[in-house]
Amino acid sequence: MLEESAKAAWEYGRQFLMDGKVADYIPELGKANPVYLGLCIKTTDGKTVEYGDVEQRFTMQSISKVVSLSVALQHVGFDKVFSKVMMEPSGDAFNSILKLDTASSRPYNPLINAGAIEVVSLLAPQFSFEQILDFTKELCMDDEITLNESVYHSEERTGDRNRSIAYLLKSKDVLEGDPLAACDLYFRLCSMNVNARSLAGMGLVLANGGVSPATGERLLSAQVVRTVKTLMFTCGMYDGSGEFAVEVGLPAKSGVGGGIMSCVENQMGIGTYGPSLDEKGNSIGGGNTLKYLSRALHLHMFDSEND
Ligand code: GLU
Repeated sequence: MLEESAKAAWEYGRQFLMDGKVADYIPELGKANPVYLGLCIKTTDGKTVEYGDVEQRFTMQSISKVVSLSVALQHVGFDKVFSKVMMEPSGDAFNSILKLDTASSRPYNPLINAGAIEVVSLLAPQFSFEQILDFTKELCMDDEITLNESVYHSEERTGDRNRSIAYLLKSKDVLEGDPLAACDLYFRLCSMNVNARSLAGMGLVLANGGVSPATGERLLSAQVVRTVKTLMFTCGMYDGSGEFAVEVGLPAKSGVGGGIMSCVENQMGIGTYGPSLDEKGNSIGGGNTLKYLSRALHLHMFDSEND
């Protein structure tokens, strides 16, 4: 049942690939092949089901915001983190600077650029990139994750908007440290090279309440995982989060590199890769694959037994 539905979902998702566009505002991302689509599912009872381009590496981009938020909640603490960022959907584009200057000095949530840069600024004095990379490898159950140097340099060269956000936060005394150090760590975290399997691995740890099913080790506290999944549900798919919550009904986080990481409570982690993006910046193939899968297997968080 899982195998058939996954295959049908992947085939469904493929039909949309030509309706989207690969991100090219970070020049290096523009080189991705829009016809790629990979789906990997890892279940809490040890099964892996996968179709398509699951080995293809791509950069995590915004999905790394889940990693930085998790590390910050775990090690810097809830009070400090949420004194710096709010927990509200912004309804604006991921890289928007608007509300930060007009509506609130605190970024709306930790999964948009402003919020993530703020969160990363809390990590920068305590953690090196290598330490967070090592933790990401554990979370994703993938030892092969490395820094994609070309994407990192490409983003570093063209990241003026993110540097503006960091300086604006600094001017408002929200960001306490060095804005450029925060941006550098943020760019590196966005440039971690994962594949659909790694994202399924991370989703699986989240589905399993923070305990790695592979080793039995607790990687994140239950409270951190609950908070992160809630924010993924409300804010994880840019300003398409509301529609995604209605249509798919699962916590998910997308990145402009084409990845989506999602999970089904106590059941499975799901990773998709498809660099062709819709107008909101979400993978068009991955999003449609998840929509099909959720319907076929009744995975929506609010599906009732009586359906
Ligand atoms: N590195 C990207 C940026 O900051 C991440 C954006 C994303 O995936 O949403 O622009």
